[in-house]
Amino acid sequence: MKQKALLYTGKAKSVYRTDVRGQFIVEFRDDITAFDGGKKDSLKNKGSYNAEVSAFLFEYLEKNGVATHFVKMLDPCHMVVRELSMIPLEVIVRNVAAGSIVRNYPFKEGTKLSPPVIVIDYKDDSRHDPMLNDDLIVALKLVNAKELAEIKKIALKINALLVKLMDAQGITLVDFKLEFGKSGKTICLGDEISMDSMRLWDKKTKESLDKDVYRFDKGDVMATYNRVAQRITKNAGSAPKKKTAAAKPSAKKKTVKKAAQKARAPAQKPARKAATKR
Ligand code: C5P
Repeated sequence: MKQKALLYTGKAKSVYRTDVRGQFIVEFRDDITAFDGGKKDSLKNKGSYNAEVSAFLFEYLEKNGVATHFVKMLDPCHMVVRELSMIPLEVIVRNVAAGSIVRNYPFKEGTKLSPPVIVIDYKDDSRHDPMLNDDLIVALKLVNAKELAEIKKIALKINALLVKLMDAQGITLVDFKLEFGKSGKTICLGDEISMDSMRLWDKKTKESLDKDVYRFDKGDVMATYNRVAQRITKNAGSAPKKKTAAAKPSAKKKTVKKAAQKARAPAQKPARKAATKR
């Protein structure tokens, strides 16, 4: 596969066209940003840790009946994905109150939210991603009512699957953000699921294992990302539909594993600066 023209540059990822019809390459860069782009850095290996976790979780979700854009990893930072027509929504699922809902509403941090709370924001940097409601989503024609119901159903299914996986690793899935797109009429999970887009707490120590370490200067960000990537991806045995001891890893799994091993190699290209503030 050949990488062609740059299609889109976000705050931490770039999307390229390829010579294969209907497939793009997503580059996970080492850039990290927070507070609407107000804080920015480039942290060595960050792209590879996020790509490794995203690839692992996409495969896990696919195996459990969730359609995603994931095709394969080319190397530790480059993921081949199916072309989607992206829906400009940020679908946030919350199991525990933290972050913006604690700032904006009278929730005490750490309050369990059961059933989980879904919050949907309009993905628009120039408007600072304002929160939507169902009527606004339909009035803006971002999706129709049936598609919105489907998106919420998929988001809750993903939540149940991820909670189960993280729980087995001693991690609380506090909240996370999803982005969806359409492939024909099928709604597919796109973007990434990584330490940048999830809020994760160690069950025992309550330590942050995600981008909050960067946002609030809580410690060594890359040491945390490295540790949590290992924790999530290396104990796959606890995930539902695990492979048996005798079963051979799939070709996709091998690609992800090989890519992950390469990610530990010290030689990394210097990170490029994000063109937008996300
Ligand atoms: O900041 P807030 O508490 O609303 O974030 C909720 C979750 O969604 C967090 O896990 C955060 O990392 C993620 N998020 C994201 N991208 C955004 C907004 C939130 O990944 N633009």
